[in-house]
Amino acid sequence: MIPVNKPFLPSKKEYDKFTEGIWNNGWLTNSGPLSIELEDKLKVRLGVNNVLFVSNGTMALQLAIAGLELTGEIITTPFSFIATTTSIIWQNCTPVFGDIEADTLNIDTSTIEELITAKTTGILVTHVYGNPCDVHSIEAIAKKYNLKVIYDGAHAFDVQLNNEPIFKHGNISICSLHASKLYHSVEGGLVACNDNKIAAKITRIRNFGFTSPESFNELGINGKNSEFHAAMGLINYSHIEKLISKRKLLSDKYDELLVSFAARKPVWNKSATKNYSYYPLIFCNEEFMLKCMKFLQENDVFTRRYFYPSLASALKFLPTKSLAITDKVSKKVLCLPLFYELTVDEVKKISDLMNKFQRNNLNLVK
Ligand SMILES: *Cc1c(COP(=O)(O)O)cnc(C)c1O
Repeated sequence: MIPVNKPFLPSKKEYDKFTEGIWNNGWLTNSGPLSIELEDKLKVRLGVNNVLFVSNGTMALQLAIAGLELTGEIITTPFSFIATTTSIIWQNCTPVFGDIEADTLNIDTSTIEELITAKTTGILVTHVYGNPCDVHSIEAIAKKYNLKVIYDGAHAFDVQLNNEPIFKHGNISICSLHASKLYHSVEGGLVACNDNKIAAKITRIRNFGFTSPESFNELGINGKNSEFHAAMGLINYSHIEKLISKRKLLSDKYDELLVSFAARKPVWNKSATKNYSYYPLIFCNEEFMLKCMKFLQENDVFTRRYFYPSLASALKFLPTKSLAITDKVSKKVLCLPLFYELTVDEVKKISDLMNKFQRNNLNLVK
């Protein structure tokens, strides 16, 4: 069986070495030495003044919205993981969806301005599959209308835009360190923020809103993460280059073997590097994709419709909104297996199956 994803696990010995320190000092959570070490390392790597290690990526999104004090309407993308939208709702704001671009699958920045109302306070969009959005257009609009910008960089760890870390952009960028992501701490999230005042505010909100042991001046939550998760984050940190280069090798192999397959890849931002966090394909049509997905499954290869359906039409607790490009493209997207332990032979097996499926179903290619 080939799953679509399998979390990277370092050796148990490496983990034991780190946890020994936890047993020695008895510090389990609440900004212990390992969490601080991780935040300090990531601050440098992500090129921002402050990085906060929090319980998960969803919490990072909610803390970002709370820290920037966004209210009313937030303009966002319907082509993302559900947490991008639900974090807005949990913070008592309303998501307002713009359509995406058919080639990059990121927010179409030309749709943003017409969605701005007197209630709009922010823009929260995703670097889909780690492919940077048009940050320059977004930041120009934000400046013109005095809006705050949050980037959901859950997929974008280590991506550089114009030779600078993508996490430098926006008032806040967040990342997810969930086990399913490229770089993980089992569960975990990051808030990356240049503004020291906002970072200090989010640090308080992350810890119940404590300003001193007996005073609460703002609404807080428990968004902290533990020393055990920080230990995994630190160990995996030392493996990042290895993880990315293996994923590059596998992605290049897919590219080579699927060159005649009737699907296209999202167009990558020309000024950005890649982190190979996913291998998405946009099939020529939905029927071809669904049948190919089923054929792969019958051969014990598991793929994922990521992202499907559109967040603007899938959520029972929100009014639905149809968006021409999102509705069309999200139906045809499929992510192929991609993870550290996947082998070149398995990529060959998957590609051979897909090419065989196409040869036997040419009538579906249109
Ligand atoms: C994974 C993911 C999240 C949520 O992160 P968690 O750590 O699982 O809470 C948010 N946005 C996107 C785009 C994601 O892929």
